[in-house]
Amino acid sequence: MDKPKKKKRIYCTWCKAEIEGEEIYIRTRRGTEMHICPKCWRQRWRALLLVIKAKFEAIESGVSCFDDEFLAHIVLPDGAA
Ligand SMILES: [Zn+2]
Repeated sequence: MDKPKKKKRIYCTWCKAEIEGEEIYIRTRRGTEMHICPKCWRQRWRALLLVIKAKFEAIESGVSCFDDEFLAHIVLPDGAA
C-alpha cells in the first residue's frame, strides 16, 4: 500500500501565511514566481483602485494634470516608456 502523498504547503509571497484553498499564481517578467493569498490579492487591487481614484480626483479638481499623473506610466507598443 502506498503512503499517502504529503500535500505541498504553499505560502503567500507577501504575508507569508500558509495558503489553504485558492491561490493566485504569478510569474513576473523577470521570471520570479509568486503565490498570493486571496486576501493580499484583494488588498493590492484595492490599493491600486485608490491610487487611480486619487489621480483622477487631483486632475478633476485642477490640482494636477493628466500628463503629470499618468505620463510616467505609459508604455509604448515597442516597450519604450
Ligand atoms: Zn497573503
